[in-house]
Amino acid sequence: MAISWLRPLAALFPKSVVATDADTLQAHAGDAWFASTLPQAVVFPRNAHEVSTLLRFANNRRIPVTARGAGRGYVGGCVPKKHGIVVSFARMNRILEINPVDGVGVVEPGVITGEFQAQARRLGLLYPPDPASLKECSLGGNVATNAGGPRCLKYGVTRNYVLGLQVALADGTLVRVGGRTQKNKSGFDLVGIFVGAEGLLGLVTEITLRLIPAPPARAALAASFAQASQAAACVQHLFREGFLPSALELADRFTLDAARRHLGPGRIPKGNSHLLVEIDGQPASVRSEVRILAGLLQSGGALEITTATTEAACESLWGLRREFSASLKATGLTKLNEDICVPRTRLIDLFRFTERLQKKYRVEIASFGHAGDGNIHVNIMADLTKAGVRKRADRALDELFRQIIAWGGAITGEHGIGLAKLPWWPQAASPELRRLHGLVKKALDPRHILNPGKFV
Ligand SMILES: Cc1cc2nc3c(=O)[nH]c(=O)nc-3n(C[C@H](O)[C@H](O)[C@H](O)COP(=O)(O)OP(=O)(O)OC[C@H]3O[C@@H](n4cnc5c(N)ncnc54)[C@H](O)[C@@H]3O)c2cc1C
Repeated sequence: MAISWLRPLAALFPKSVVATDADTLQAHAGDAWFASTLPQAVVFPRNAHEVSTLLRFANNRRIPVTARGAGRGYVGGCVPKKHGIVVSFARMNRILEINPVDGVGVVEPGVITGEFQAQARRLGLLYPPDPASLKECSLGGNVATNAGGPRCLKYGVTRNYVLGLQVALADGTLVRVGGRTQKNKSGFDLVGIFVGAEGLLGLVTEITLRLIPAPPARAALAASFAQASQAAACVQHLFREGFLPSALELADRFTLDAARRHLGPGRIPKGNSHLLVEIDGQPASVRSEVRILAGLLQSGGALEITTATTEAACESLWGLRREFSASLKATGLTKLNEDICVPRTRLIDLFRFTERLQKKYRVEIASFGHAGDGNIHVNIMADLTKAGVRKRADRALDELFRQIIAWGGAITGEHGIGLAKLPWWPQAASPELRRLHGLVKKALDPRHILNPGKFV
């Protein structure tokens, strides 16, 4: 059946802004997760004014509108569940300003995170949030998911770097929240409402980000342990000794075995667990801290320790860490990637719990991630072609999430709710909290046109 609003939509913009051909619709149906729904049109606005025009049109006609950054989300957040219009920010990709004196960068939402980081770096500045997808994902997507990464242990997540936003509200109103100063306590923290909102409350059309001086030196230590629980205990020990590393990454036995098979045994140290510790700061303090940290890892039972004090050597250790995902992929199993977060006191319990889950449901589990902030990627590795495996994996996930919630943890630390975590949202949020979300949504998007079919 012909869609009555397509012609008037196309009439609002120059020809290249609206697409309805099958290839473009297909290319905007999904992200890095499994779900996929075709939109009826894709709009590529070139500026905030066009976003506003589009929203006014869609709101008047109650057409669903789903924002899309780079489409590298892991939970189906940008999937247009109720069809309608996908707004791609791919063409709003200009870095508008980097100001070293103010410590501020102003960008359009389609800028790729890694490109912004590299530009800032050339001016001696650091934009710390470092999702593993940073070479592909957009800053708008990062804001909408409040993205994080290894460095967030020391430096904080995306929210901690957003000073101000320009947002197009559901009815097309353009509004600026926050500003460009390092502190600002004028009114409610409305920046915080839009960061992490997964495109349900407004479309971000400009972002003002905080930049900090880039530390001149870094160093890393990689240590292997017989057991994941020993490595987890070491993490606690480092904190007790007064260290706040810039990253603390842990990997378990399944992950290391997969890496040994994929890369050859020579590159992976012996043991069943791997801990990567990174520090940064002034050269002299980094050098002395490395020595103390090596001693602490040794006394914590490390089997082998490799120390990297140059940029190239650090990158080589990170290179190995980055191979873990590829190694899991090379197993040929489907990786059901969860990004749960537990209070740090539960780290050791978590590794013991996943051991039990593997036995109970006869599924393999590979856990690795940001041990320092309790945010561990618990990946159920499943051969979904085999009968009964999907069911057992789902039951394992159910039990995992129930336990995480009982420990006071979060079912998602980085990726967001999207469609992937939707079944567990009622468990994760109390009825009062869900009602509050509903009230905020109703106030900002009374016709429910923004990213409908998601968690509110
Ligand atoms: C290999 C891989 C590794 C990853 N590693 C990490 C990691 O370490 N840490 C981490 O946090 N995440 C990680 N992710 C998840 C993902 O990259 C992040 O969630 C990222 O922020 C998504 O950005 P995007 O531009 O691709 O957004 P999209 O996938 O396009 O969209 C994500 C959400 O943001 C909304 N959105 C996008 N742009 C806007 C806008 N301008 N205004 C309002 N809403 C908007 C969408 O509607 C959607 O709900 C990883 C993903 C992959 C595939």
